[in-house]
Amino acid sequence: LTDLSGKTAIVTGAARGQGAVEAELLAGAGASVLICDVLVEEGEALAARLTGEGRDVRFLKLDVTSESEWTAALDAVKGWTGRLDVLVNNAGIINRKIIADMSVEEWRKVLDVNATGAFIGVKLCAPLMAETGGGSIVNISSNSGFSGHYDPAYTSSKWALRGLTRSAAMEFANAGVRVNAICPGLIVTDLNRNSPHLGPMIGMTPMQRPGEAEEVAQLVLFLAGEGSAFITGEDFVIDGGFTG
Ligand code: NAD
Repeated sequence: LTDLSGKTAIVTGAARGQGAVEAELLAGAGASVLICDVLVEEGEALAARLTGEGRDVRFLKLDVTSESEWTAALDAVKGWTGRLDVLVNNAGIINRKIIADMSVEEWRKVLDVNATGAFIGVKLCAPLMAETGGGSIVNISSNSGFSGHYDPAYTSSKWALRGLTRSAAMEFANAGVRVNAICPGLIVTDLNRNSPHLGPMIGMTPMQRPGEAEEVAQLVLFLAGEGSAFITGEDFVIDGGFTG
């Protein structure tokens, strides 16, 4: 069982979807969790619910593309518990346009949130983790980060996260900070609930079902905890056999 008592975690994009479940599991394992998102109402409601269940959580509005908001999030953590042990770069958006239809601005937006947002998180959080004894960073990539798809900006951003993960793992290993990526397959959330690809994707999945947010969150918990102490620079596909 993963015990995160006395640890502090930041989860981005945690107001709903997989991030919310990740925050809930980390808090359930004893961590103080800063729930971050651009969705203020949903984030505050989640924090209120988890606090009511006896968890040590707070919500802070954080747009991951903003370096100054990241700095404010780190200041909030320093003033709260004084330490940082876990960062989950979970925030993400999708734009399903193909290259021919996508503007440069639309491309930049997806890369900015999905890849640059995680880069800023790693850049600012790893030094604080190092100062307070090391830590674990988990980047939520996708099994899209292994092949080409008809959502080129999203796919490219998820490949970028795998590259960031490996590079950051090398750079911060001596500082005691581990960096890993999780590459989920289809998990039904607000990101894809209305996608026409749901049925075909389930059909192409050997296990013939989508994954559950909790199944991804359990892997986050493992990578956050001491059970994975010798694992860094890896990506973990969790997709019911889709990638093969
Ligand atoms: P979701 O849309 O429910 O959650 C994404 C969250 O990110 C939302 O709460 C959203 O408000 C937040 N967010 C968006 N832009 C942000 C920004 N600039 N700053 C901070 N927060 C921001 O979707 P989800 O399925 O829970 O996605 C979570 C992660 O999992 C994403 O990175 C996604 O790419 C990845 N993923 C999802 C699937 C899937 O099938 N759902 C598969 C593979 C990977």
